[in-house]
Amino acid sequence: MFSHIFAKAAFTLAAGALMIAPLTARAQQQDTGEVTLGFDGLPDLSANVGDFGVSFTGASVLQCGSSLNCSAYPPFSGRNIIYDTPGFGGVITAVFDPTVAGNVRKVSARITGNRSITMTAFDVNKKVLGTISTGGSNYVGSGTGLPANMLLTITVPSGQLPVTSVTFHDSGNTFTIDDFTFTKGKTVMLDAGHGQIKVGNVFKYQRPATATYQLYEDNLTLDMAQSAKTELEKNYGVMMTRSGTTAPFAPANCGVPCNIDLDKRKELAEKYEVDVFVSLHTNASADKKANGAEGFYRGAGNQSSDLASRLVAGVSGAGVANRGSKAFSYRVLSTTMSNSLVEIAFHTNSQLAAGQSVTDEFRLSTASFKGSVGSAIAKAVDDFIKANP
Ligand SMILES: [Zn+2]
Repeated sequence: MFSHIFAKAAFTLAAGALMIAPLTARAQQQDTGEVTLGFDGLPDLSANVGDFGVSFTGASVLQCGSSLNCSAYPPFSGRNIIYDTPGFGGVITAVFDPTVAGNVRKVSARITGNRSITMTAFDVNKKVLGTISTGGSNYVGSGTGLPANMLLTITVPSGQLPVTSVTFHDSGNTFTIDDFTFTKGKTVMLDAGHGQIKVGNVFKYQRPATATYQLYEDNLTLDMAQSAKTELEKNYGVMMTRSGTTAPFAPANCGVPCNIDLDKRKELAEKYEVDVFVSLHTNASADKKANGAEGFYRGAGNQSSDLASRLVAGVSGAGVANRGSKAFSYRVLSTTMSNSLVEIAFHTNSQLAAGQSVTDEFRLSTASFKGSVGSAIAKAVDDFIKANP
């Protein structure tokens, strides 16, 4: 029997071999926007314990029945906890990726330790937002009267920036964290339509260049998504399905449309349970005079039609005609959250229609129009979220 003492006598290594468990049930998200990491499903001694937009340093997994002495340090839920890996000064740091976690306003953790453990939350400028301690050793058998798995919670005062990091420290001794919970803010996923796909050894656009200005829909959608992102991330977590020029999940020679790519985009939105999914496109028609913005949504029983109509109204405010919105079963829109696909304008509109002073294609060639569209999308999404909290 091989045994080993971690840190100061808290944990006993009972088995020599690592248990490899599937990475399931690592995190759960409730309808309230609360995300809980219970660290279950991870292998004993794994140091890769982050998910859902939070990453940990100085922490690794201990599993009840493997490396964890769980009679003294019982898990709060499941069989796994994380503890302060030796070599990090007794400090565990959790860092949030705001694009995934959104604006975090509340964090909590269940702590067991053999000294007083202090949890501190910081904003992006390293300003302390709150601090709280267990007050003394609280492992089972410590005799202090303090319960194991003590709940420590920090709520960000109103008017303060969100939490971007949390530290736990105990002056170099040993402690465990089991459930780590945070309340994520609202998050938005922007999907810039299309993107280049590798065909043979060459990356090719999914849509042809336009008649007059040689614009590519693949690029236009990304420009406008990035513009909307800049506005939205002042108030929300914003994830992009792509930030580069290529289709993010398309295997080589996938063909157009690339259903694998479309399905993976949707799955990304599902995985992180974003609140709003918006796919940006520009429209095409054989009629060179066809023009205007048009919105689509999928699914009954949610607020997607409201989202689509707000988006089209907003975009048309940037100067293009409002063609309205309607239900349509676009593959990428098969999401459970509110969704809309908005066709910003017709990139094929190279001939003036009656009543038009400039073509949609011309508008799409200007940075000012694309910037206005980005702002309009951000405002429409913001209004939608406020109207549908
Ligand atoms: Zn398109």
